[in-house]
Amino acid sequence: MKTGLYIHIPFCQQKCLYCDFPSYDNLTHLYQPYVAALCQEISGWGGVLSGTLIDTIYIGGGTPTLLPADALKTILTKVHESFSIDEAAEISVEANPGTTNQEKLLALKSGGVNRISFGVQTFSDALLKSIGRIHSAEQAVRSVKEAQDAGFSNINLDLMYGLPGQSCKDLKVSIQEAIKLDVTHISAYGLKVEEGTPFAAMDQLGTLILPEEDDDEEMYTFTTEYLPQHGFRRYEISNFSKVGYECRHNFKYWKYHPYAGVGAAAHSFFQKERLSNITDVSQYIDCVKKGKLPIEFRENPSSAIAMAEYIFLALRTVQGLSILEFQEYFNRGFYLEYGEIVSELLQKKLIAVKENQINLTVLGMKYGNVVFRAFLPG
Ligand code: SF4
Repeated sequence: MKTGLYIHIPFCQQKCLYCDFPSYDNLTHLYQPYVAALCQEISGWGGVLSGTLIDTIYIGGGTPTLLPADALKTILTKVHESFSIDEAAEISVEANPGTTNQEKLLALKSGGVNRISFGVQTFSDALLKSIGRIHSAEQAVRSVKEAQDAGFSNINLDLMYGLPGQSCKDLKVSIQEAIKLDVTHISAYGLKVEEGTPFAAMDQLGTLILPEEDDDEEMYTFTTEYLPQHGFRRYEISNFSKVGYECRHNFKYWKYHPYAGVGAAAHSFFQKERLSNITDVSQYIDCVKKGKLPIEFRENPSSAIAMAEYIFLALRTVQGLSILEFQEYFNRGFYLEYGEIVSELLQKKLIAVKENQINLTVLGMKYGNVVFRAFLPG
């Protein structure tokens, strides 16, 4: 089976106040040794996956475009040397506005990158500042246009709703601005206050003023209705795209397909085993330098967990869950395992069943967590 490749770049110029991703600021001194370790790990995976075609690559972070152009080139060259890459592969890079320039864009283009995902979040300068982003709205527009001028036509913008002080009117302006930029894909995420972030600390102190539940709901409804009315089909809970521009790499996760993850904190799903790399950047570098596998954790999920994961990942997408594919993958009768749960969720109008297909309803998309919890064992 064709495989995906994820490459993690754990560096950011500044930590955003809501972010709990494995990314760090003030590590410029580690860029060079990190890229060297990454290339060594890529070579190793190249051996493991020889004979396997890679059809999606995703360089995420962190902020990959914080690395200098020559480092980006080094990584991409190593990837091409180490793997057999499908001619039609989707190769994405995450970027933050203000961290790209012509030299980096050309390095990405010549390294085969054909999709850029910009973390814009909002086009309101006041909101950007309040969530600790480094860029301005104007920089976001400029970065997208520069990428388009450099020949990138497949561009995603990440947007957020439910930000402190954000109104539905603010959100509408941001979404309209994104659409005006003629991008192909928009991911829209609701803010979640994650443990250990500055926002969580502010929340505890009572200084984080989030939109009221009704306002949050209005923003969610607006996003999910407005984008499809303007050419962006909702194909997953938080993802919208023009026809043919769905992110193929993300389908590796949602369809339970294999992928290799390289870099600090990267996750892999390989031969039905889940692996995660060492999170600490310096320890990751040291471990790879010593010629050891930088794996911190590995597990073969129990069949109950694997089945639940398979179901809820498939249900996130508008394609939904194919009961026949599930049965083939696990060699188990779907209704024998989940008949009662399916009846309950049908009654609550959270899912719809048609022939051998189960999909979330509009209500189910909104309360996805309720559906997903229902399938978890015990
Ligand atoms: S740019 Fe992205 S990865 Fe970096 S701190 Fe902000 S949200 Fe986190």
